[in-house]
Amino acid sequence: MATQKKPGKWRARTHAVRGGQIRTPFQETSEALILTSGYAYNVPEEAEARFKGEAEGYTYSRFANPTVTMFEERMAALEGAPCARATASGMAAVTATFLSALNQGDHVVAAKVMFGACRYVIEEILPRFGISNTLVDGTDLDQWQDAITPATKMLFLETPANPTLAISDIKGVAEIADKAGARLVVDNAFASPALQRPMAFGAHIVVHSSTKYIDGQGRAMGGVILCREDFLKDHLQIFLRNTGPTISPFNAWLHLKSLETLEIRMRAHCENAGVVADFLAKQRSVLRVLYPFREDHPQHKLARAQMAGGGGIVTFEVAGGKQGAFAAEAALKLIDISNNLGDTKSLITHPATTTHQRLSPAARAELGVTDGMLRIAVGLEDSADLCEDLGQALT
Ligand SMILES: *Cc1c(COP(=O)(O)O)cnc(C)c1O
Repeated sequence: MATQKKPGKWRARTHAVRGGQIRTPFQETSEALILTSGYAYNVPEEAEARFKGEAEGYTYSRFANPTVTMFEERMAALEGAPCARATASGMAAVTATFLSALNQGDHVVAAKVMFGACRYVIEEILPRFGISNTLVDGTDLDQWQDAITPATKMLFLETPANPTLAISDIKGVAEIADKAGARLVVDNAFASPALQRPMAFGAHIVVHSSTKYIDGQGRAMGGVILCREDFLKDHLQIFLRNTGPTISPFNAWLHLKSLETLEIRMRAHCENAGVVADFLAKQRSVLRVLYPFREDHPQHKLARAQMAGGGGIVTFEVAGGKQGAFAAEAALKLIDISNNLGDTKSLITHPATTTHQRLSPAARAELGVTDGMLRIAVGLEDSADLCEDLGQALT
């Protein structure tokens, strides 16, 4: 097997199509799906050398697989990261990042507004192993700074955050992490590397749910951890090998091939989401629209400074609380009610009763997740059809 031509100074779109490609002796143009658990050796010495780490080569697909390697290398090239490891899901990536490196007595600071399962891991699972946390308003650098203790080892944020699309200042938080000798982990699922590269702003680790925009077609679960060499060598590699949150080569292959169209898709998602956001803002029953690139978004300047597009998600609030929101969802004829996002199909969800139902009403209020709030993951349909559907549902 031969790695394709040297990547050299390729630009992002070229990396997206060609980065990390490994060709088998058949010289296939499209990346091979190598569905195998094991690998054979010509002589026992070869197995010995590979297990000792003295010779390169695959040994077992829990450790590494050529199709998975291609996906990891392409992701690393797109994020500008030294190393990448793919996992079975986004939550496997988040959990492995924490558990591989944190010890009893360590402390995590995280932004309050985040994907529900990430918050569960931080608030419910980590404390069982003696890892404490402080949750802060992710948009307020003073709160990040004030939460730091001598035991702080990791800072975690999601930007734009689910579901309010709050934007955190990656560079500002990364500087606080550096001063504290801690690592900043950024969940980049909502933006994808096509719109935001957190490592360029100083983030130490990036995690992804590749289930979302990277797959982009709502088919397969996956996750990615992007990091520097020291984190991989000192913590992640051995943890992943022995705990086994391995991605299937099939899912890795889907996500690898999806990266080829990521930028084109993200541009279309952003364009559609911008049209939908502006349309919603004009509806009488809509109280508020949140979209990072609209001027009425509280951090829109910061969003424009660290993102290449506003993303595919639009959050809005309708009159009439939960009843008003449910009535609007039920009246939709095209947009599906679904808590997933990052699909070609437009999906709408009511965060208060789905992704954020575990939180108490007070905790939701603190995050700004109201009963009338709806989140649309704007797909790739014709935006005129989406606006028509929303228009009829909201009257
Ligand atoms: C979906 C999502 C996750 C979890 O990813 P899975 O692939 O569902 O495990 C984590 N963070 C964010 C921001 C997400 O949207």
